[in-house]
Amino acid sequence: MRGGNSTESARPPTPHNPNETRPMAKPRDREPKTKACAACGRPTVVAYRVRRTAAAVWEFVCPDCLERVKSGNPHYAYGGTWKGERH
Ligand SMILES: [Zn+2]
Repeated sequence: MRGGNSTESARPPTPHNPNETRPMAKPRDREPKTKACAACGRPTVVAYRVRRTAAAVWEFVCPDCLERVKSGNPHYAYGGTWKGERH
């Protein structure tokens, strides 16, 4: 015969800390993951910020159009890369 009810729940109850510090969940990114290419109008995940004309206007173009934009273009200027995907 054994004492059937010998449970080993002798541990003290661990208090649940309601203020447990967890990293703030970032709000959902509402930014679009793509940009519309200024040259062909297609959405592109990676866009290049370029100047295509003498006007000081920056536009975003896709990698394909970048080649076309910058070849033989005296006004071409590169202003950085935009990426819609984040890690
Ligand atoms: Zn394009």
